[in-house]
Amino acid sequence: MTIGFIGIGNMGWPMAANISKAGLPLKVFDLNSDRVQAFAGEVGATAASSLSEVGVGVQVIVNMLPTGADVRDVLVGEGGLAPHLAEGTVVVDMSSSEPVGTRDLGAEFEILGLSLIDAPVSGGVPGAEAGTLTIMIGGEDEVAIEKATPALKAMGKNLFRTGPLGSGHAMKALNNYVAAAGFTAAAEAMLVGEKFGLDPAKMIDIINVSTGRNFNTETPIKEHVLTETYGTGFQLGLMTKDVRIAADLAEEMGVNSPMSALARSLGAEANDAEGEDQDFTYAFRHWAKRK
Ligand code: NAD
Repeated sequence: MTIGFIGIGNMGWPMAANISKAGLPLKVFDLNSDRVQAFAGEVGATAASSLSEVGVGVQVIVNMLPTGADVRDVLVGEGGLAPHLAEGTVVVDMSSSEPVGTRDLGAEFEILGLSLIDAPVSGGVPGAEAGTLTIMIGGEDEVAIEKATPALKAMGKNLFRTGPLGSGHAMKALNNYVAAAGFTAAAEAMLVGEKFGLDPAKMIDIINVSTGRNFNTETPIKEHVLTETYGTGFQLGLMTKDVRIAADLAEEMGVNSPMSALARSLGAEANDAEGEDQDFTYAFRHWAKRK
């Protein structure tokens, strides 16, 4: 079973490296050809020099691309990979894509004789490096999921089946909305406390052994905001996209969800001010400057 892997960025590199470590033959492709060469040299995988090349002789293709639009483009856009894949190939979209777009793509895949499953992840770069990601698997094609499972097990520790195609992507966006809301609330509390005269370092230590703690207080705020290193490896544009997907989903479902709408607009504002390529923790810096 050879795995093709497209998108060896901050997450994709360590995830693909764990597939290789598990002994599964691997072929990698990324728009950044220097990265492909570096990966092949350092980790040991076949470097594909084009999109069509990564699809030759593979049974499973993993995507770890920035957005659902990128995934659609790579697969069924002009010069896309899907028409060149052998019948029965399983495509696993591990990016955090729009759930409705994933469902649409799955229907197009069926016509081509291909299988699509969604398997987005949580755990960030440290979880990707350790092979301990949480993976949310959407899709009901049991044969396809079985084919993809050895690679998924190489990358993750907690593998969940979430239901039909697109349900993994819905779950992932909702998780990241909860995380972003926790980050936003903690940022506001820190700014208020500091203005009152509380010491930020002491505040975060107290929160982290109290009921206000969450992932963002324990790691991004403590280790990246307070140290002013801003280096979680998760870009502001990607976080903003995830919160937008969740807030849009709330609207599409007709659920009154004012907090998600607020998190969406606060994220978008920080993204516009700081830049989408910046680490997402820069949002804290932007909010600190707001009047
Ligand atoms: P990234 O920007 O670091 O990596 C994306 C990679 O895809 C880059 O190497 C880029 O060159 C490549 N790429 C883009 N378009 C391409 C194309 N058309 N063909 C081939 N390669 C292409 O992003 P990331 O942080 O690795 O995130 C990837 C996905 O995982 C996103 O959907 C993100 O929301 C999600 N995610 C990220 C984190 C995190 O902590 N960084 C955690 C969980 C989920």
